[in-house]
Formats: sequence, C-alpha cells, structure tokens
Amino acid sequence: MNSPFSTEISRHPLADFGWDDDWAAAFAPYAAQGFVPGRVVRVDRGQCDLVTPEGPVRADTEFVTPHDPLRVICTGDWAVVDPEGGDPRYVRTYLPRRTSFVRSTSSKRSEGQILAANVDHAVIAVSLAAELDLGRIERFLALAWESGAQPVVVLTKADLVPDAATVAHLVSDVETAAPGVDVLAVSAEEGHGIDVLGALLDGTSVLLGQSGAGKSTLANALLGADVMHVHAVRDVDGKGRHTTTTRNLLVLPSGGVLIDTPGLRGVGLFDAEAGVGQVFSEIEALAEGCRFHDCAHDAEPGCAVLAALDDGTLPPRRLDSYRKLLRENQRLAARTDARLRDEMRRVWKARGAEGRAAMEAKRGRLG
Ligand code: GDP
Ligand code: ZN
Repeated sequence: MNSPFSTEISRHPLADFGWDDDWAAAFAPYAAQGFVPGRVVRVDRGQCDLVTPEGPVRADTEFVTPHDPLRVICTGDWAVVDPEGGDPRYVRTYLPRRTSFVRSTSSKRSEGQILAANVDHAVIAVSLAAELDLGRIERFLALAWESGAQPVVVLTKADLVPDAATVAHLVSDVETAAPGVDVLAVSAEEGHGIDVLGALLDGTSVLLGQSGAGKSTLANALLGADVMHVHAVRDVDGKGRHTTTTRNLLVLPSGGVLIDTPGLRGVGLFDAEAGVGQVFSEIEALAEGCRFHDCAHDAEPGCAVLAALDDGTLPPRRLDSYRKLLRENQRLAARTDARLRDEMRRVWKARGAEGRAAMEAKRGRLG
C-alpha cells in the first residue's frame, strides 16, 4: 500500500480522514458545482493545509475568516475548495459543524476561540501516577460534553499501580464522577488497553488532559501499532509538507483520525452550562424530583437532592463540584455580557454625532 488514496477502490479517498455518507450528502450541492472537499489540517497566516482526494492542498482562507472568532475555519472543518487550476485556490465555505471545541481566551476579554471542529471522541487522559483529582476530571468532562463530542476517560500509566484490584478501584471511583462515560485503564509502557481504546475511537478524536498526563505517549501508542500506515499518509504528500499533515491530523491504524493541535491541550471552560449539566446528570435527574422546580437544594422542604445526600446515594463532593463548576461558568458568562455591552457602547461612540443626527432625522421622518 503506497497511498491511502489508491489502496481500496470502493472506499472514498477521504474515508480515513472521517468522510462519511452524511458529509457526502452535505457536500453534494458543492460537488455538483465542481468544488472539491477537503479536511482542514491546520490554519495559519491566511491559508490552510487540507487533505483532499487529490492529495494535500494549500488554500487561501479569506472567505472563511469572519469577525466572529467562533466562525473562523479551523482544524477538523470540512472545506469547500476551488477545483484544481485556481491560483491561489480558495476555501469558499465549510460544511456545518457537528461539534466544536471552543476555548475561553485567558485575557480580560472573554472571547471564545475555536480550536477544533467535528470531533467525535474526546479522550481525557488522567495519570494514575498522581493522586486522582475528580474535580479536574469533571472539568474536562464538562468541556468535552459541551463541544458535542463523546468523552472517554483514559487512566494512564496503570503499570505504576501495584495491583489490579487497586486499578479496578480507581476506575470505579472515576466512574462515579463520569456518568455515561467509558473509563478505562491503560499502560502505554506495557501496551495494555491500547487496542481496546483504539477500537473505541472511530471518526475523529482529540486528546485532552494536563501536561504530563501521558497524552503524547498515548498518541504514539495508538499510532505505533501500524507504522506503515503512518508512512502511507506521509507518502501522499509530494510537496514536502508531510510534517504538518502528520502533526495535526493523524490517521490511526485502527481507523479514525486524531487531531492534535497545541491549543487544545490547555483548554478552559467557555460557556459550558449544558456540558456541566451533562457531567452531573444524576444530580439534574434528582432535581426533577424536588418539590419546587427552582429548588436551590439548600434547605428547601421536599428536596430530592438533599435527600440523596442524606441517604448516602449522592456523595457531597459531587454536589460541591457541581456548584463550583456552575459558578465558574456563570462568572464567564457575566464577563461575556460585559464585553458585549462595552462593544455596543464603542459602536455608538464611533458612530458619533453624524450617526446620531441621521438617527434623529429618521425618527423625525417616522414621527
Ligand atoms: P503529556 O504531557 O500528556 O503528553 O505526557 P507524556 O506523554 O509526555 O508523558 C509524561 C511522562 O509519563 C513521560 O515521562 C512518560 O514516559 C510517562 N508515561 C507515559 N505513559 C506511561 C505509561 O504507560 N507508563 C509509565 N510508567 N510511564 C508513562
Ligand atoms: Zn432540591
């Protein structure tokens, strides 16, 4: 196999990069006009690298760089690209996103930044070499759920835990903090659990987690099982851009792709109320049983959440963590609103006397 674009005639050349029937259907109107589909590998300096059925393409992103930072084209997007022959070739638009990872910029301006699009699985790497911090895991889970991706928690470095019973115990601890989420222990060092994880990761995946959690090692373990395949992807590129192609969008030998962009690693919450709700789905389900629909679960009579605390089915840590993440999220939301107000004020100032006069005149005409 010398190129993933020629090995299997029946498969779409972009199938390895996540192309499926739904993308094909969304792209059909553009195909009819002669446009070419491409998956965005990376975006930089007004251009982007794409994988297309013709191989790697570099294209101008002028038409897909709007003011709204959340709508700027990013890694993982499915682009609509000019057919061959254009110089430069332009990305005309991109297909509606299924999911999107957004980061709150750490500056005073609370503006979101889009980090990756169309991610199916968010792998949250957590080291078993350190003490488990369930609150931190819940934070990453909120972020993952909010993006629309399905999270999976991977407890790394299981070889450093003395015995299997302890590993099982740790897995079940994490499971209580992650309803609806697969939790598995792996050792990249010993190769344990890597195939199980690989089998879970169809479509597009990203790795999240603290520095030192074992993400790079895990990525290598997932990729390493079939080094030939990685080489095959590199071979596609005759233009010396293989390093960028392989750095940000990596084809997994077990199927699917891994997106690895620098920003994703230090990602923070951004407007993730729905995500927080999903992390604490058992609390939200309990709250449905509270007597008052706006129950704050403080001292209200008939509170189902407090009852669950009393009978021990809900660990107090979970409720504390839920409140903490909701508060954090509300602070962020308030900051966003403040920014919007400031922006509106600036706009009105900029319009100045001229604008106001025009408005007055208009009002006069109407009144
Ligand atoms: P990253 O910062 O999340 O990318 O973490 P790295 O992949 O760089 O791993 C951090 C450290 O943990 C490195 O020293 C790795 O060698 C070590 N490490 C990663 N996976 C394993 C594992 O399965 N077992 C052991 N014993 N060490 C591991
Ligand atoms: Zn209540």
